[in-house]
Amino acid sequence: MTITQSTTNLALHGGAGIDACDRCLALSQLAVVLCSVPLLRGTAEHDDRIRTPQDDPQPSAPLARPLVSTHEGLAPIPSELVRAAHGVSAERARALQRLLTGWSADAVRARCLASGVAAACRCSIDYPESLHALADPPPVLYVAGNVRALDRCPAHAVGMVGTRRPTRVGREAARTIATGIAQVGGVVVSGMALGVDGASHEGALQGRGTTIAVLASGADRPSPPSHRALYQQILSAGAVVSELPPGTEPSRLTFPARNRIIAALSSAVIVVEAPKKSGALITVDHAHDLGLDVYAVPGSLASVTCEGSNKLLCDGAGGVVDGVDFMTARQGYLDPHQGARLRPVDVDQSLIHDVLVHGPQSRQELRRAASSLDPACLEAALTDLELSGWVERGLDGRYRLKRPAVA
Ligand SMILES: [Zn+2]
Repeated sequence: MTITQSTTNLALHGGAGIDACDRCLALSQLAVVLCSVPLLRGTAEHDDRIRTPQDDPQPSAPLARPLVSTHEGLAPIPSELVRAAHGVSAERARALQRLLTGWSADAVRARCLASGVAAACRCSIDYPESLHALADPPPVLYVAGNVRALDRCPAHAVGMVGTRRPTRVGREAARTIATGIAQVGGVVVSGMALGVDGASHEGALQGRGTTIAVLASGADRPSPPSHRALYQQILSAGAVVSELPPGTEPSRLTFPARNRIIAALSSAVIVVEAPKKSGALITVDHAHDLGLDVYAVPGSLASVTCEGSNKLLCDGAGGVVDGVDFMTARQGYLDPHQGARLRPVDVDQSLIHDVLVHGPQSRQELRRAASSLDPACLEAALTDLELSGWVERGLDGRYRLKRPAVA
């Protein structure tokens, strides 16, 4: 295997949009190999912890952290890199190197092209900006579906996570909240797992909105396989992303690692039913690290699957019971081109909006009707409303709403 040191060796291929350098591609491949050979990663104690029965496995460290920490001094010999990064024996490092034999960056690019998967490495301008905020950003983000969906992350995106075994009520809550978020132009980001994840994606699709799945397998591999139909729907209504090259099967180590990507693509995270020990709470940790707001859906005190999410509420997380209300409170008004139909929550703008609900008004009439606003605030709010597409000024000089108001 050869790892080029150059980060400017970008190869932009047509259709699938592949802009990933050899070094980043190599790092993403190393992550795969390390995850497929857990023995190389750590101690027996580490493995025991993973095997502890609980809702979702929680390995101690995110997938790529050790690799990234040595990224700058990346040696051309993988065994040296691995030995330095993981403290494994030379013998194990050699075993790892054998697994990498035959790897080439061009082969990965060809596989991307063949499977219709786009790729952007950390050196590319196509790489989602918000991923750089992670302590261990994925070397490469592979994307199936509509890459434009990522343009709306993180500003309009909400991460939704929770247990794989929700109650019937929790599953329904995930679905209806996601529908509400999607209906007003929000993007629902989740992990496509069984339970809350799947219900969240389904809800977003039901709301005819955009949704993004972050997989623990390659972006071309639906996981779990039972969600193959859902995967196809997500591809047509958004995107499926992964830090792992096409063709990669999921492993128990790749599941927790993808949670940091769900958080980094989102502006807030909502936890829908999570027991005390849950993979969903890993996403919460990442959200906190990134300075995101964390929310939880209140659940039954009688249900153990709600213990973790209810505790978040006790610890100060915001409560969510309705997707539209949630977005109204968080986002204010959204870009009308995204199909939003909310009223602005900015107090001044909302005042003007409420006046215009009754019909077009001249500036004079607006001043009288919104007399609590001083002229400067009125002007500023009107300008903002016009810029954001809520209000337009007709040829008669009167202001009117550009779309029907919602009661
Ligand atoms: Zn790169």
